[in-house]
Amino acid sequence: MEAAVRHAPLEEFQQQVSGCTRCRLAEGRTQVVFGVGDPQADLMFVGEAPGFHEDKEGYPFVGQAGKLLDKLLAGIGLERGNVYIANVLKCRPPGNRDPAPDEIQACESHLFRQIELIVPRVVATLGNFATKLLSGKPTGITRVHGAEQEVTLGGSRVLLYPLYHPAAALYTPRMLQVLEEDFARLPELLGRPPAEPAPVEPLLAPVAAEPAAVQLGLF
Ligand code: URA
Repeated sequence: MEAAVRHAPLEEFQQQVSGCTRCRLAEGRTQVVFGVGDPQADLMFVGEAPGFHEDKEGYPFVGQAGKLLDKLLAGIGLERGNVYIANVLKCRPPGNRDPAPDEIQACESHLFRQIELIVPRVVATLGNFATKLLSGKPTGITRVHGAEQEVTLGGSRVLLYPLYHPAAALYTPRMLQVLEEDFARLPELLGRPPAEPAPVEPLLAPVAAEPAAVQLGLF
């Protein structure tokens, strides 16, 4: 793999997050799994949470689901070093259970700050948790996979592109086929001209006081 591109603000932020104790997951983790890849990538993937192997190695998607993600990337002529990969949660939930709403709420600003620093053009969400958080809508992945939408994330307009989670596709051939088909559209999405700038907020717009997880009604 090529030498990693340096990005001082992202590295500084990673350093800060490495000591995070915002939620109970800090107690059981081996380490914070911040993210990996090109810090200036046009394409960013957001998964759910680190699993056993990710927690041990410190990188996202290093287990079986990660191997499938690498294969899907190779299918469109890319490798890990060309993209950025992160998760909704930076710490492993015990026994790989689903992320809890309060854990998502505690962690979401880390992800939003990553997006702000990386400024990707396309954010591909892998599975339900990332899709619901970043779309700000409760619609599940089965309905929205493969349907890109322009959203504002980290202060920039990005194309949000929901995909099935590779772990779900590992054992379901039909889901794998759909994931491959959706993946095949990524080069076209990356080739589109940059999204229009975000509409200017009215000066007196009310400030959203609640974290996204709260606004989504996850409580
Ligand atoms: N599944 C995820 O969502 N993230 C990982 O890092 C690994 C598996």
